[in-house]
Amino acid sequence: MISRRMSRPINIGGVQIGGGAPVVVQSMTKTDTCDVTATVNQIRQLKEFGCQIVRIAIPDVEAAAALATIKPLTDIPIIADIHFDYRLALLAIESGADGLRLNPGNINDPNHVATVVLAAKERNIPIRIGVNAGSMPKPRYETQTIAERMVYAAMRYINFFEKLDFDLIKVSLKAFDVIDTIEANRMLAQRVPYPIHLGITEAGTPTHGMIRSAVGIGILLNEGIGDTIRVSLTGDSCDEVIAGYWILKSLNLSKRGPTLVSCPTCGRAESDIISLAYAVEGQLAKIDKAITVAVMGCVVNGPGEARMADVGIACGNGRGVIFRQGKQVRTVDEKDFLSALMEEVDKFKAAEPVERSKRGDGSDKGKRRSTGGTKRLKRAD
Ligand code: SF4
Repeated sequence: MISRRMSRPINIGGVQIGGGAPVVVQSMTKTDTCDVTATVNQIRQLKEFGCQIVRIAIPDVEAAAALATIKPLTDIPIIADIHFDYRLALLAIESGADGLRLNPGNINDPNHVATVVLAAKERNIPIRIGVNAGSMPKPRYETQTIAERMVYAAMRYINFFEKLDFDLIKVSLKAFDVIDTIEANRMLAQRVPYPIHLGITEAGTPTHGMIRSAVGIGILLNEGIGDTIRVSLTGDSCDEVIAGYWILKSLNLSKRGPTLVSCPTCGRAESDIISLAYAVEGQLAKIDKAITVAVMGCVVNGPGEARMADVGIACGNGRGVIFRQGKQVRTVDEKDFLSALMEEVDKFKAAEPVERSKRGDGSDKGKRRSTGGTKRLKRAD
């Protein structure tokens, strides 16, 4: 079990961050913020996949004004992402932002930063101090590492905020380099009590980005560091949320949604397990109830894994044996594998939970969890 760092809690639009609260999954819209319909639709879609807080870009006055229209049409907290012009932060506050994300180094005049901080303080609006490796002050000495520079930059801003008696602070230190990100966040976690938002920035397209993010975010979470996460992907924002839950569930930090246990297949498989696994994962993608589904290719590990899952199928010789909550419930022909399995999933969703320790195998191994549904999988839905 992971022993988590106890940070000072803040509240963003009703969602607690830090102070022992579950790790919060965030994402960011990729629409033109001024296109209210598209932005609202994307926020609603993100919520369906479990996004708990969404950040939207406020690059100009029109976007800040659009936030006032977007806000009442959505029901998850919105963080306004501000760079360069402090007046946009003030407008975003007026438009109902639940939080701000600033890189104070992008706002040149400290008086302007102070104006924003005092306005946020007046409305009880938290601010994320977001330092990215790509936009830092120059090194203070030749050997100063990227991680040290990120921490130094963050500490300067934190001290500045604290002098204004403002402590509704969340901090993020992000780099493309996973090791830099890990080292920076380890240092930061030792120095401040504030909640930490984790992410690997500019992580890349979904496959690479998910792996880089899983390694960086996962290592830190496993050390107890991190109160919110965002998986930054050059791709669909919903995939960011799905990947976020995959990471949390891999570490048993969340139980939300489906887990697919599927064998890699080999020369013993007598059915098209790969297609079946993708089809099942696609159909599970939007389920928010915790459920583990096993798709197995033969009798070697099939019945054992299928029995340990909430619903599972062990295939072989053109037939599939289906298990639900540890009990063998039916045997079906190959053409019915998908439909029969999903029928049992529906029955599981409607049923009362049965403790795993009371199931047929007596094993606790089925506690593992992870989420389903990459972009590829969503297409199969
Ligand atoms: Fe191969 Fe069977 Fe193992 Fe799947 S369960 S990888 S088909 S041995």
